[in-house]
Amino acid sequence: MKIANRIENLPPYLFVTISKKIAEKRARGEEVISFGIGDPDMPTPSRIIDTLCQAAREPANHRYPESEGLPELRQAIARWYQQRFDVVLDPETEVLPLIGSKEGIGHMAWCMLNPGDVALVPDPAYPVYAISTALADAEPYYIPLTATSGFLPDFEAIPGDVIKRAKLLWLNYPNNPTGAVADIAFFEKAVAFARANDIVICHDGPYTETAYEGYRPPSFLQAHGAKEVGIEFHSLSKSYNMTGWRIGMAVGNAVMIDALKRFKSNMDSGVPQAIQLAAIEALNGPRSEISRHNDIYQRRRDLIVETLLDMGLEVDTPKASLYVWAKVPKGYTSAGLATELLEQVGVVVTPGNGYGVQGEGYVRLSLTISDASLVKGLSKLATWKGMMGRSKSKS
Ligand SMILES: *Cc1c(COP(=O)(O)O)cnc(C)c1O
Repeated sequence: MKIANRIENLPPYLFVTISKKIAEKRARGEEVISFGIGDPDMPTPSRIIDTLCQAAREPANHRYPESEGLPELRQAIARWYQQRFDVVLDPETEVLPLIGSKEGIGHMAWCMLNPGDVALVPDPAYPVYAISTALADAEPYYIPLTATSGFLPDFEAIPGDVIKRAKLLWLNYPNNPTGAVADIAFFEKAVAFARANDIVICHDGPYTETAYEGYRPPSFLQAHGAKEVGIEFHSLSKSYNMTGWRIGMAVGNAVMIDALKRFKSNMDSGVPQAIQLAAIEALNGPRSEISRHNDIYQRRRDLIVETLLDMGLEVDTPKASLYVWAKVPKGYTSAGLATELLEQVGVVVTPGNGYGVQGEGYVRLSLTISDASLVKGLSKLATWKGMMGRSKSKS
């Protein structure tokens, strides 16, 4: 059988390859500790589960939901944005619940790009931005994010002929995989760039609630004029430990929201209603829950950073996100170090080049690992000798 070229040419999703390697090792009876995927290890708060269980028993929730989501959920999302960011949204036209934000992110290219158009995609980045662009027969143009510019893109460095063909700019702060953050002034620069060049912005912001030491990351929509040029994707996955329930949202520009709604209504039949009711409960809940989870992540972050520094890796302590982005020691590649750590000490880290060419020379460690595994994983890492031994920097 011959499948379509667009699937034939698709690289396997990053974590599929890594999961396979882990499974092989475990099948051989070896212990593997994974700092790989960013998937909260702590359970969904029980008040949310209780709402979900109750809603699951209600026959009204057994039927097809509406594609555009319950009005009560759209209102809860608008209220949450107002309280958290002081951003005003019209729940009728500027809010769209999604089956996890990945669903909307993946479909957005189809809504905004014609074949041959260019999407400006950060490198390194969450792989979906570039892949969905290619699936829509459009072309990703990679804008490098480097340590020297704080992993923020330099719009002035994009060639004029690329800008002419560009229709869409992807941004993501707090950033996966680098842990970098952006302020409102940066978002305003992006809005000015988009406006001047007739480009729309999709900001992916699932980590605005996952921040440390009192830092509160802004929403892209707080930038003056943002709603005229773009939308923001948000998610309950990371803030409320709800990755498994698949619930997120797109908010902002009404034309873009409407395009996504029209696309969606032809592709899926909306978020299961019981999940929507659970999401309302989540959004209306106390902040203290999120702070408690962040305290745990912060402690893990500090332990991981300390161990990596001891190993001779160069690393900044991230102010937000669930990731530590570490530079591999001299003489290593991303894949080389990741392979060596897996083979020698049974620890999984994600090779940075999986997020793009600019990710080469880095590995990513996720904070979503249970405390017990974390302790085990760090002590395994501490036994790693590296190809030059480890005494050099400790003399
Ligand atoms: C986790 C993640 C998402 C996906 O979130 P879902 O709402 O669970 O689909 C989107 N973007 C980035 C950058 C992520 O890390």
